[in-house]
Amino acid sequence: MSKRDYYEVLSVAKTASDGELKVAFRKLAMQYHPDRNPGDKEAEIKFKEINEAYQCLSDGQKRAAYDRFGHAAFSQGGAGGPGFGNEFGDFMSDIFDNFFGDGRGRGGRGGAPGRERGADLRYNLEITLEEAFAGKAETIRIPTTVTCEACAGTGAKAGSKPRPCPTCGGYGRVRAAQGFFAIERTCPNCHGRGEIVDDPCGSCAGAGRVTRERTLSINVPAGVDDGLRIRLAGEGESGLRGGPAGDLYVFLSIKPHEFFQRDGADLFCRVPISMVTAALSGEITVPVIDGSQTQVRIPAGTQTAKQFRIKGKGMPVLRGREVGDLYIQVFVETPQNLTKRQRELLQEFDQSASDENHPESAGFFSKVKDFFTG
Ligand SMILES: [Zn+2]
Ligand SMILES: [Zn+2]
Repeated sequence: MSKRDYYEVLSVAKTASDGELKVAFRKLAMQYHPDRNPGDKEAEIKFKEINEAYQCLSDGQKRAAYDRFGHAAFSQGGAGGPGFGNEFGDFMSDIFDNFFGDGRGRGGRGGAPGRERGADLRYNLEITLEEAFAGKAETIRIPTTVTCEACAGTGAKAGSKPRPCPTCGGYGRVRAAQGFFAIERTCPNCHGRGEIVDDPCGSCAGAGRVTRERTLSINVPAGVDDGLRIRLAGEGESGLRGGPAGDLYVFLSIKPHEFFQRDGADLFCRVPISMVTAALSGEITVPVIDGSQTQVRIPAGTQTAKQFRIKGKGMPVLRGREVGDLYIQVFVETPQNLTKRQRELLQEFDQSASDENHPESAGFFSKVKDFFTG
């Protein structure tokens, strides 16, 4: 049986806005709702069809896929297809999610009532550039909640047991009728736990969890960069009443370095050189991130901002084999605090200097002159 076009099912134009879709869906859903058409198989099929069309078109991503590929976008039961559950109740709750934002769709479904996943934790770890270069084994201490041992997480005093909540019958949620829709919400008596603790555990005051400081060792791999997140699954806060633990996220930041600036795997270092070295050539010693030093040859006539690349002396690439480079950027330091003799020597040099010695200046000033004289 070929499927009808979703837009046709909802009797809307292909350009319909989300609001128009919703209005059209509501109208049709009311018309064909099984409660209004008891025993009418056709109405039930129609209702399912309407629901499926709306599930797809009300989801921006699915709608885009449907617009491009039609029903083929969701064939073979692929994940993300709109489909609906085998049971009637299942897709009813989807409607509730969409209309009332009940939040039931997110993690609320499945599992025992009251079970809650523990919160994720964030830990900020600051390391030096040297540590990012070499990698580091770090021990961190985090205050976190763990399941209370005294009551095994039930929150009830030893020897006693929590009893099922009488308001919701242990389900954790209650239904209230509104028109012909039934709205489900968290049970106000037990706050969704589904059970009542009469005699709270003394160690955790009935919470089922206690705060502890935990020590964790983490391995910071070589080549990490600022802002990187390391996820330690299941190392966050413990869950409530048997729920799974959250995750721990370690956020890395790297302290600014005295000599090196980093750009990806490459390092940059600004090094002052004397006017004489720049003019006559020479060799300078520069630092390397691994703690060693290396020599750089400065050719005669080197200008400020000239870069020298030292291959393979940068940062390692995270989980890679490559290594970045080290760039030495020199700047010529103008001599200061001259003695009388030094001053004379420089003046003597200046008198003997020609345009050949300063081609950049000569070129620049002749251009300026041309510019103003036309
Ligand atoms: Zn306890
Ligand atoms: Zn309850």
